[in-house]
Amino acid sequence: MTNDLSIVWLRRDLRLTDNPALDAAISASKQVVILYVYDDHGPFAHGGAGQWWLHHSLARLSADIEKRGSKLILRAGNGGEELMKLVEETGARSVYWNRRYDKQGIEEDKKTKSALMESDVKANSFNGALLCEPWSLKTKTGGFYKVFTPFWRALQEAGPERPAPSKAPKKLMPPKRFPESLSVESFDLLPTRPNWAEAFDDEWTPGEKGAAKALETFLENAVGDYGEDRNRPDIEGTSRLSPHLAFGEISPLQIWVRTKDALEKNGNKGENGVHVFLSEIAWREFAYVLLYHYPDIQTDPIKPAYSKFNWQNDRQALRRWQRGQTGYPIVDAGMRQLWQTGWMHNRVRMIVASFLIKNMLTPWQEGERWFWDTLVDADPASNTASWQWVAGSGADAAPYFRIFNPVTQAQKFDPDGKYVCKYVPEIAEIPRKYIHCPYDAPEAVLKAANVRLGETYPLPMLDLSTTRKRALDAYERVKEAS
Ligand code: FAD
Repeated sequence: MTNDLSIVWLRRDLRLTDNPALDAAISASKQVVILYVYDDHGPFAHGGAGQWWLHHSLARLSADIEKRGSKLILRAGNGGEELMKLVEETGARSVYWNRRYDKQGIEEDKKTKSALMESDVKANSFNGALLCEPWSLKTKTGGFYKVFTPFWRALQEAGPERPAPSKAPKKLMPPKRFPESLSVESFDLLPTRPNWAEAFDDEWTPGEKGAAKALETFLENAVGDYGEDRNRPDIEGTSRLSPHLAFGEISPLQIWVRTKDALEKNGNKGENGVHVFLSEIAWREFAYVLLYHYPDIQTDPIKPAYSKFNWQNDRQALRRWQRGQTGYPIVDAGMRQLWQTGWMHNRVRMIVASFLIKNMLTPWQEGERWFWDTLVDADPASNTASWQWVAGSGADAAPYFRIFNPVTQAQKFDPDGKYVCKYVPEIAEIPRKYIHCPYDAPEAVLKAANVRLGETYPLPMLDLSTTRKRALDAYERVKEAS
């Protein structure tokens, strides 16, 4: 049966290809209104870097929709309430959206569904964000997976819930009369801080086309060696698809199917790289399982004993970490990469997170918040689950006693110091032997490299072995108390 007019409510699914809600609306309606509501409230309201991305993503999506003869209707405020207003204005008989999995999103969608039912309007929801819904893969005992390896096995066995991604619709079935719309500019999403986000333009191409290109470039150049290179921040060995996935400019199903297809066309060359890459896509899925089943994951440790942890709350130290002024070059390089580009390599994310939580004894929630504000790929599931993973308080987490040593990690994964020199240029003249531990260099070596520790580059803000021991003692107390 076709409805006269329906509304598609876009959220973190800013794409026209493989968008199940949009496809369903188009096949069931004569006219489709495409809506996006900018809501700056709630625990997962976009941070600064996310706002930059959103601005460009909406602008590109808007242009793509206009090319197809329709228009993206933009509103601001509470999503559900704005949707209800638009239903009233347009007389829509049905509404379509792709599901959210965070607590606030779920509650808002439930509330909206009831309000729609009361108005006799049909709500239709879909899975547009995941290979499998977070409740669909079950353990033998009927529960959800709390350990990644069996989850990954089950996901491979089951395969994606939808067999193949859909193409962008040829016609968007525009309404006879477009409802009023705000402009992207009116959301005021671009940063006002001077110099910040300047480099984002050179680093990223938000939008669906940028996402497709990032995938193709990765499949062409890097996927074969991904298994090894993914750990090297000095090499462009990863896909950099994370912000595109976080904003839903590409679906994991598109990535899954296209990657397998490329492997087959390539005569299975680079099979190991493909396998490891898809397992990382599965880590994203696993994070969504955790977000769904532990709705307070952003604030509360999954392992409750960790709420008794005796954290230090040194604001000055936190500031040094945020600004990349710790005196440990790999930590500083990571934090500056994050600030300058809105992204940080995964290996370095683990190092800086371990440093904050374990060496500085700062609550992981502080790191989660800073990342949320500064990452272009800030994702409700991956960010929270990853912070809990490093803290040791998460499901299938790194054990607390595994404390990353930033110096040995850097020597292993940035052997020539290329990454560090890029983001910490003030120490670039130091010989490679000391690049990850400038404080060990003899005075004459530092002088020759124009480095004055404590002046041109900070002295280490803490001692690694003392703070390591302090962290292990604090952890023992949590264990005893639990
Ligand atoms: P690739 O290596 O090319 O991987 C492909 C995709 O797989 C990624 O785009 C991502 O969607 C997914 N993926 C890879 N690793 C992970 C992982 N460990 N957990 C979940 N998904 C993964 N990722 C985010 O997308 N958003 C976040 O907010 C985020 N916060 C993080 C915070 C911390 C403390 C840590 C340690 C990791 C975090 N990650 C986050 C995971 C990971 O660092 C990024 O997904 C990855 O660096 C993105 O780069 P890429 O797209 O080149 O990844």
